[in-house]
Amino acid sequence: MNPAVPAGAGRFAPSPSGDLHLGNLRTAMLAWLFARSTGRRFLVRIEDLDRVRAGAEHRQLADLAAVGLAWDAEVVHQSGRIPRYLDAIGQLRGRGLVYECYCTRREILHAPTAPHAPQGAYPGTCRNLGESERAERRRGRPAALRLRADTDHFTVRDQLHGNYTGTVDDMVLLRNDGVPAYNLAVVVDDAAQGVDQVVRGDDLLSSAPRQAYLAGLLGLHAPRYAHVPLVLNPEHRRLAKRDGAVTLAELVRHGQTADGVRDALLASLGLPAGPLEAVLPAFDPAALPREPWIYRGELAEDAALPRA
Ligand code: GLU
Repeated sequence: MNPAVPAGAGRFAPSPSGDLHLGNLRTAMLAWLFARSTGRRFLVRIEDLDRVRAGAEHRQLADLAAVGLAWDAEVVHQSGRIPRYLDAIGQLRGRGLVYECYCTRREILHAPTAPHAPQGAYPGTCRNLGESERAERRRGRPAALRLRADTDHFTVRDQLHGNYTGTVDDMVLLRNDGVPAYNLAVVVDDAAQGVDQVVRGDDLLSSAPRQAYLAGLLGLHAPRYAHVPLVLNPEHRRLAKRDGAVTLAELVRHGQTADGVRDALLASLGLPAGPLEAVLPAFDPAALPREPWIYRGELAEDAALPRA
């Protein structure tokens, strides 16, 4: 192996649906710290298969750079990689592991479920339709493609959560609008980009078993996972506009600097202030907080001032 090319990579993979908030920035910094502290490259991938807001990608990348994150290869866009996702689906289809599904959300919600079926799992309505039933239903609406999974659960190992067993169901591979599904795209891309370490918010922990199972079916190695705690508002909900200044641009308007925000996020992780390179020696995954960080608006420098 060429020692100049380090093995493996970590990544941050935002959806360009809006500006990054403090939680996203904190997760991105953690992904960088995990990658760098283990000699991995750090990559950024824009997950722009849906929910794209004009200008968001540009601002997201600028904000990552402003808190001191640098990435090691050109940014990859999922929208430019559709043929790869279709290839993967074709591969599974060739093995009889794909079927057409005509269900609406409503039908899925109201379908009777098997007594022991895990909550939220696809009830299998279209799994065993005969050819004539299929032809009939095809006339109604375009089909989505689903995986014919041969298990209902799978276990992944997570660096912060230990062994985690979660639901695997007949997940959607191709949506009925022709767009490849998130679970498929993520698996294909992580493998293609040499990503062997996935650090992301723990709201995605329950997706990891599906993704790792799918990776196995495609003959790919599942990455190492670390699902990190989120930043939440005082009501324990995800940060949103109503929580005041939660993006870098908003905080700068309230008197903060990018370095100040970076240092506050580091402090919330029990880490010293400073450029990220300088923080690396102090980074220890085992010492990370396991609980969400409750953000009460304290980073808006003028938060305590009376409103004009
Ligand atoms: N694009 C996803 C998001 O922004 C993250 C996907 C992942 O990290 O696997 O929520």
